[in-house]
Amino acid sequence: MTKVRTRFAPSPTGHLHIGGARTALYSYLWAKKNGGEFLLRIEDTDRTRYQPAAEASFIDGLHWLGIYWEGEVIRQSERTAVYRAHAQQLLDSGKAYYCFCTMERLELMRDIQRKKGRAPKYDKTCLRLTPTEVQQNLEQHVPAVIRLNIAAEGTIRITDLVRGPIEFKCEELDDQVLVKSDGFPTYHLASVVDDHASAITHVIRGEEWIPSTPKHILLYQAFGWEAPVFAHLSLFINKGGGKLSKREGATSLLDYRTQGYLPAAVVNFIAMLGWNPKSTEEFFTLEQLVHAFELSQVNTANPIFDTEKLDWYNSHYIRQLSIDDLLTYCQPYLPTADPVYLKQIIALEQERLKKLSDITALTDFFFLDVLQYEPALLVWKKSTVEATRAVLQKLLPVLATHSDWSATGLETALIGWIKAQELGNGDVLWPLRVALSGKKASPPPFALAAVLGKDRTCQRVQAAIDLL
Ligand code: GLU
Repeated sequence: MTKVRTRFAPSPTGHLHIGGARTALYSYLWAKKNGGEFLLRIEDTDRTRYQPAAEASFIDGLHWLGIYWEGEVIRQSERTAVYRAHAQQLLDSGKAYYCFCTMERLELMRDIQRKKGRAPKYDKTCLRLTPTEVQQNLEQHVPAVIRLNIAAEGTIRITDLVRGPIEFKCEELDDQVLVKSDGFPTYHLASVVDDHASAITHVIRGEEWIPSTPKHILLYQAFGWEAPVFAHLSLFINKGGGKLSKREGATSLLDYRTQGYLPAAVVNFIAMLGWNPKSTEEFFTLEQLVHAFELSQVNTANPIFDTEKLDWYNSHYIRQLSIDDLLTYCQPYLPTADPVYLKQIIALEQERLKKLSDITALTDFFFLDVLQYEPALLVWKKSTVEATRAVLQKLLPVLATHSDWSATGLETALIGWIKAQELGNGDVLWPLRVALSGKKASPPPFALAAVLGKDRTCQRVQAAIDLL
């Protein structure tokens, strides 16, 4: 059996997006599942749209997800001689031809075709040039492209591994430009030559490449090569059924790292965007995906990109972390402080974190000497300013003389005291919690007090009394 080989072949025209990351993931999974190899190829032949930072974003992004490729990164810009030699081969065998038509002529031709209600298509004018005319034009450096000579009739059939059989009519295909006037190959030529050179068996890519596939098949035929199998993935849509906006995922993959998503969560989330494991299992690590993934279980419906689902996965994987690992992940979002103190703090929030970056705002009060909040916040909804002040004044000496400063010790003592005072829990615990955190929502006051320590707890209660 031939070894399965897949590739991810992004164009460096922008950052790696989450959609591209999914294409890469599925290609990687398919190769690994079949004991094969996964390659990374940078399709940088379009020099007008080239962005120097893009390549690093692909490499860093894939590594962040845990996706590694075989061998060196293949860069098409370093292989122009190979493409030119292959174009020459097609010229020599009459499968391709030089075209000297100017932009103006092509535009006029297309205009006329449109007016006649036909799809715009090159009219093969230059195919009728004699070899001498072609030679003269080339000698005079008339700008030229090389086109594939596509027959006017015939049907191309493929069996897409995701979509099943697809048919294309040759009469609808334009004589594809293979080499541009700047001498660089088009995507079509370069990708076919490279997929063949790398012995790619499965081309997994976005559905926007379906219309290009018959041209690729014709190129394989023109070279006398066997074509790979294709699998076209449906693009993500938002909840409203439209194109993704930046906020909804059309943003750089590494932005998710900055926002505090764990790679395990992103991998799991994008794996499930379009793949149906045919079970109720929702959690898969990269390794588990390698075994479970099936291209035949990839849906053709456009997957809905749901950030809430991503947050849900992220919370799940955050909860799985050991406190030491959580600290490593959270440290960039926290001030420098004693690691023991930091661990106590993040342990309080581990259950509530959706994104690691949330930790900054959730825990800022642990690092401040003086808290800023509205005094009114201290007043429990069923209480008054006076009553709240009185409660805190009574509570302060209780705290100051209490010795078991663990969260449970504090809880037992305070609940007992509240009962003995015939107060409601809210009358005491609400203002205490606000006094310690300055926030509407936070972990329970016992846990906060335990982490803050006795001195700071008493200071903050005193500050709250002064505020009232
Ligand atoms: N360079 C193309 C892209 O950016 C690759 C398409 C393919 O995988 O053939 O999507």
